[in-house]
Amino acid sequence: MTPLDTLGRPLRNLRISVTDRCNMRCRYCMPEADYVWLPRESILTFEEIDRLASIFATLGVRKIRLTGGEPLLRHDLPTLVRLLDRHAQVDDLALTTNGILLARSAEALRAAGLRRVTVSLDTLRPERMVAFARSARHGEVLEGISAAAAAGFASVKLNAVIIRDHNMDEILPLLDFARDRALEIRFIEYMDVGGATQWDMRRVVSQRDILDLIARRHGPAEPLVESAWAPAERFRLPDGTVFGVIASTTAPFCRTCDRARLTADGTFLLCLYGERGLDLREPLRMGATDDAIAAAIADAWVSRTDRGAEERAGLADRGVLHQIDSLRADPRREMHTRGG
Ligand code: SAM
Repeated sequence: MTPLDTLGRPLRNLRISVTDRCNMRCRYCMPEADYVWLPRESILTFEEIDRLASIFATLGVRKIRLTGGEPLLRHDLPTLVRLLDRHAQVDDLALTTNGILLARSAEALRAAGLRRVTVSLDTLRPERMVAFARSARHGEVLEGISAAAAAGFASVKLNAVIIRDHNMDEILPLLDFARDRALEIRFIEYMDVGGATQWDMRRVVSQRDILDLIARRHGPAEPLVESAWAPAERFRLPDGTVFGVIASTTAPFCRTCDRARLTADGTFLLCLYGERGLDLREPLRMGATDDAIAAAIADAWVSRTDRGAEERAGLADRGVLHQIDSLRADPRREMHTRGG
C-alpha cells in the first residue's frame, strides 16, 4: 500500500543523487571555491542503490530520476540504469544532467532502459557559461543535447534557470533553440535552496515576468491542463510551441509534491528544503531486512508535514537559506548533495 503523508500526498516519485561531485560551478548552486564532500566510503554502491530502489518501488514509487551533482560523473551509469530498469513497478526512469558527458553515453543509457533525459542549458553563449559556471565545455553540452535527441528517448527536455542580470535576455533565444530542435524547454525560477549562497529575491524572474516577456514576442501562451502532480506548468503558444515554467519560488506547489530524495550516501529526504533526513545506509549495511527498511521509510513518509517552498514563500524578509558555515557543517544541506 502506498503510504500517504499528513497532507494526503503519496510516495510516488524518487530522485536519486548518485554523486555529490559536479564538473560545473554554477553560481546559483555551487559558487564556493571549495566544498566538503561526502566521504567516499559512505557513497552507496549500485547494488545498494538498486536494493533501496526496489524497496521504494514496493512502497509505491513509480518514477525514478537520477541526478546529482552531475550523475554522469558516476562511472558506468548505464549499469545502474540496467539494474533499475528491471523493477516492473517503476514505469518512468529519467536523468537530469548538465550534458557535458552525455554525447558519449546517450546511446548506452537508452539501451540500458533510460526513458527520459533532461539537460540543463542556461545559456547559448559559451563565454557566459565560462563566467557563470566556470566551464568552457559549452560545445560538449550542445553535442550532448544532439546525441540525446538522436538516441530515441521518450523525451528530451531542457531546463533553464533564469536569473535577472544574468540570462533573462536569453529566454527568447532559448525558446527558439528548443523549438528548432523539437525539444521542450522549462524555465525555472531561481530558488533559495541550500548552496544558493548568493540568492536574492531581486534576481528572481517570476513566472509572470517570463510569460509576459514571451507573450510580447509570440502572443499569449495558453495554459495546458494536466496532472496536478507535475512541477512544471506547461503552456502552448499560438504557433503550437509548448514550454514549461517551474514557479517554485513565487508559486510553490508543495500541496501536490510527491517527491522524495535519496542522497548519494543513502539519506532519505522528504523535502528539498528539509532540515534533516533519515539514514538508510546504516540499516542497509548492518543487515536490516527489506521489510524493516520499508517500515522505516513508510513511517517517515506518513509523518511528513513538509511544505518547505511554501513556508519560504511566506517569509517577510526572505534571504539566503543557509550561510556557508552551515553548509560546511552539514554538506547534506547542499542542493548538489540533495539532487535538484
Ligand atoms: N548536474 C545536473 C544538472 O546540471 O542538471 C543535475 C543536478 S542539478 C542540481 C539539477 C537542477 O537543479 C539543474 O537543472 C539546476 O539548474 C537546478 N538548480 C540548481 N540550483 C538551483 C537554484 N538555486 N534555483 C533553481 N534551480 C537550481
